[in-house]
Amino acid sequence: MLSRIKKALTDPFFPNKCQACGLFFHARKTDRADKSLTNKSHHAPMETIFSRVMVPFLCPDCRKEFSAIQSPICTQCGRMFKSRTGTDHQCEDCIKKKKYAHCIRSAGIYAGPLMSLIHALKYHGKLQLARPMGELLFYAYLKYYDMNNIDLIIPIPLHISRLKQRGFNQAMMLLKKWQELIHETHEIKSEIFIDDQNLFRCRKTVSQTGLGRKKRKQNVKNAFTVANPSEILKKRILLIDDVYTTGATAEECAKTLIKNGAETVSVLTLARTG
Ligand SMILES: [Zn+2]
Ligand SMILES: [Zn+2]
Repeated sequence: MLSRIKKALTDPFFPNKCQACGLFFHARKTDRADKSLTNKSHHAPMETIFSRVMVPFLCPDCRKEFSAIQSPICTQCGRMFKSRTGTDHQCEDCIKKKKYAHCIRSAGIYAGPLMSLIHALKYHGKLQLARPMGELLFYAYLKYYDMNNIDLIIPIPLHISRLKQRGFNQAMMLLKKWQELIHETHEIKSEIFIDDQNLFRCRKTVSQTGLGRKKRKQNVKNAFTVANPSEILKKRILLIDDVYTTGATAEECAKTLIKNGAETVSVLTLARTG
């Protein structure tokens, strides 16, 4: 570690500060400009995508600590099975209980550098991280979904009081550059439709952090409303959020959207707890 600090301090160029461990390091341009990853990045493993988009923000050691979601997973709720052999299939919970949200996917496990980045953006207002984190999420979107099967993208809304307090909705921040990214990805010709107005929180809820599964469900019950149902009628919707924990919030949003006429609701988050 000492040699790294020494190297950072003696380098003539201004070093970058790692957003996970706080150490100074030098981002090499060559790390990001890997030719094999341009335009077709989403075909690469999630670890490679993470490492590439985070070059200026995380030191090389922290970039290696990313944990991707590995198959076998539940085809519906996306949870990783304990057994590391076999193929993807529906889990027992999804077979037993009817759920409104289907095809729930995440870019990685909520741990290590991904967790540090989410905290830095959400709680410390490091808005410069929204771009690389949004890019990571965008590649997860291309990897897990067929764009032709998604009509509308909706970030999970915050209540107006929380929005005022934080100043931004982190889920919307992650989507900010998607229009730009889609134009950079020459392979894709589709348009992206994002709506952060129609679905909203009509009831203030306490933070889900620290609440158990049951309490989380009660906390968000009937907390969402659709302002204009005609705009989601028969639409195949993708909900976006930063973290998927028990899925209570996403499921409540999905229920609200389906009951207001949406055809299907899928969920994509940056991270999930397991
Ligand atoms: Zn680091
Ligand atoms: Zn499942």
